Amino acid sequence: MALGVGCTARPGRAKDNKTGSWRVFKPKFDSEKCSKCGMCITICPEGCIREEDELPVPDYDYCKGCGLCAEECPSGAVEMQKEEK
Ligand code: SF4
Ligand code: SF4
Repeated sequence: MALGVGCTARPGRAKDNKTGSWRVFKPKFDSEKCSKCGMCITICPEGCIREEDELPVPDYDYCKGCGLCAEECPSGAVEMQKEEK
């Protein structure tokens, strides 16, 4: 039997899927501490951090709050904060 028979899910990029209201934490970026290394942009599995004026800017419509950007930032410039509902 071929894979996917009877399955309605389709492949897609993470960028196709908006986060919705379930996120628990979201990253806050401190531009003063940022060394502009670009690591967070590379590591984000959602591909939702863009560069603006040489600084990383997350798109919270797509950020899932996984915390990888905060974990990998060598400058301590990203802090995960509880989402305000
Ligand atoms: S918390 Fe995760 S999804 Fe959100 S910007 Fe950071 S790495 Fe990307
Ligand atoms: S990983 Fe940290 S220091 Fe590097 S660009 Fe992102 S916020 Fe700035």
